Amino acid sequence: MTTHTDSQHHVHHRDPSAVAPEHVRRITRYLPGKPIGELAREFGLDERDIVKLASNENPRGPSAAVRAAVAAATEELCRYPDGNGFALKAALAARYAVDPDQIVLGNGSNDILELVTQAFLQPGDHVVYSRHAFAVYPLATQARGGVGVEVATVDLGHDLPAMRRAITPATRIVFVANPNNPTGTWLPPATLEAFIASVPEDTLIVLDEAYDEYLAPEQQSPSAAWVARYPNLIVSRTFSKAYGLAALRMGYGVMHAKVADMLNRVRQPFNVNALAQAAAVAALSDMAYVAESRALNDRGMRQMEEGLQALGVGYTPSHGNFLLVKVGDGGRVYQRLLEQGVIVRPVANYALPEHLRVTVGLAEENRRFLAALEAALAR
Ligand SMILES: *Cc1c(COP(=O)(O)O)cnc(C)c1O
Repeated sequence: MTTHTDSQHHVHHRDPSAVAPEHVRRITRYLPGKPIGELAREFGLDERDIVKLASNENPRGPSAAVRAAVAAATEELCRYPDGNGFALKAALAARYAVDPDQIVLGNGSNDILELVTQAFLQPGDHVVYSRHAFAVYPLATQARGGVGVEVATVDLGHDLPAMRRAITPATRIVFVANPNNPTGTWLPPATLEAFIASVPEDTLIVLDEAYDEYLAPEQQSPSAAWVARYPNLIVSRTFSKAYGLAALRMGYGVMHAKVADMLNRVRQPFNVNALAQAAAVAALSDMAYVAESRALNDRGMRQMEEGLQALGVGYTPSHGNFLLVKVGDGGRVYQRLLEQGVIVRPVANYALPEHLRVTVGLAEENRRFLAALEAALAR
């Protein structure tokens, strides 16, 4: 008969997470915006009284045509989705004048960012990105054992000359967000293209244009057309923001067909669900709705800027559907807004502890935020 020794006992209770790779154990998790239901539970509030301006969602949601397409697609819930996304890739290929095999669909554009690192990074490879840029770049890098190289900003925006200098033979990927989240800063097309042209061919450039649809047309880069000239360019786009489909998780990348082939080898065979594909196809045929959303955002942005100016609160001029607002103690003001049923986004994890990121909502939501901010700052 065996007896349990102290050491066996000890082994049995050892922390099983200790066997995870060091680079995984060092990861700090992504902090999402607080869900409405969670705030309602915590503060005993009515969900209908809560204003969420925390995740840069389109406050209008999708169009009626898109909702109808999703409802129709529920007839086929027992079927696997089209793993090659034929209809959606055809629509996107026509939109951007590229081949369907240059498009990779993602479970959100977050998936595209992950797939690039999954397909191209080996442990120890360098990845260059800007300080105060989207949190997923360091996360996706760390998950593969890559080495993140963070480049300081100029006026909270990407410093492209410094980013170029940070690229070495060890650099496999450089991430550029335009406009950037959470700062709202923007790079003009000519500046951006000069940077892309300067990057060595064996470094992939991921141009993350999650907020492109919120730019005025003359500010939008012809980035998909650049792919023909720069085979190391990957353009990442999403249906989560201006298209109002964040819940469905639908993004895509436009890239060289051989780069797309690598991403398709490592992605899940059915990474994009059928409802998301149906919604995206319908959304692409209703660009007037996106234009209306941009116009609404422009009006809301002016309302926010005027309101903040009236309160004497500083902000960074933004090219997205959100604003980086300087409030002093971000954590404290965030809490005081929560108490009033207003959810915004603290950005201390972006090394911006004095700021909050606030999404531009409907006029009434913006008004609620501005009134709550005034009260929060008065205390
Ligand atoms: C919101 C966002 C994304 C991705 O969102 P998905 O919902 O995964 O498409 C990507 N990049 C930036 C900069 C974003 O703000």
